[in-house]
Amino acid sequence: MSHVVLSHFHPDHWGELPMLVYALKYTTMPPRQEPLVILGPRGVVRLIKQLAEGYGPWLLDPGFPIGILDVQDGEPFPLDRDVSLETFPVPHTPESVALSLTAPEGRLVYTGDTGPSSELARWAGGADVLLAECSLPKEMALDIHLTPEQAGELARDAGARHLVLTHFYPPVETSDPARAAGARFPGRITAAKDGDRFTIGGGGK
Ligand SMILES: [Zn+2]
Ligand SMILES: [Zn+2]
Repeated sequence: MSHVVLSHFHPDHWGELPMLVYALKYTTMPPRQEPLVILGPRGVVRLIKQLAEGYGPWLLDPGFPIGILDVQDGEPFPLDRDVSLETFPVPHTPESVALSLTAPEGRLVYTGDTGPSSELARWAGGADVLLAECSLPKEMALDIHLTPEQAGELARDAGARHLVLTHFYPPVETSDPARAAGARFPGRITAAKDGDRFTIGGGGK
């Protein structure tokens, strides 16, 4: 693992980051030497420093280099020679962004947490994989989250090749979100489960 990218600062999106650093510190044999780069919207440096005040200084100095960087919207950020990260503001919290990773094989767009946004659909245009939140069922819709139907509309408007649904609140988790999204998007849809892996560009899962 070389990079961790945060979409926003709600704790369901960073809560396990200290545990990850702790695990990399103590369970990597031989001890990890490679840097870990933590990226996110403006404020991520401040967030990690505040976490270190609670968890301890090891979070910033775990025995391997830690880099923490704020990413600017609209400025492609190279992760390595082939892969580039971009962020785009979305309606959820003031700092919230969607993320895109572009590589020779294709483009992944992750919505982060977001409400419906035609600007996001434009920015996500042509994504090979659109990883979209769909937190809430239609009856509980809010303007800072998507329903499965709205995730389907986003995929349709973006012309995505493969819609992968995630971030289910319990009422959605016990329903069939792929079916609900499929009423709005005719393409391929997968409801993600923990541990799933997806290949971009190869056509397979
Ligand atoms: Zn959130
Ligand atoms: Zn969330």
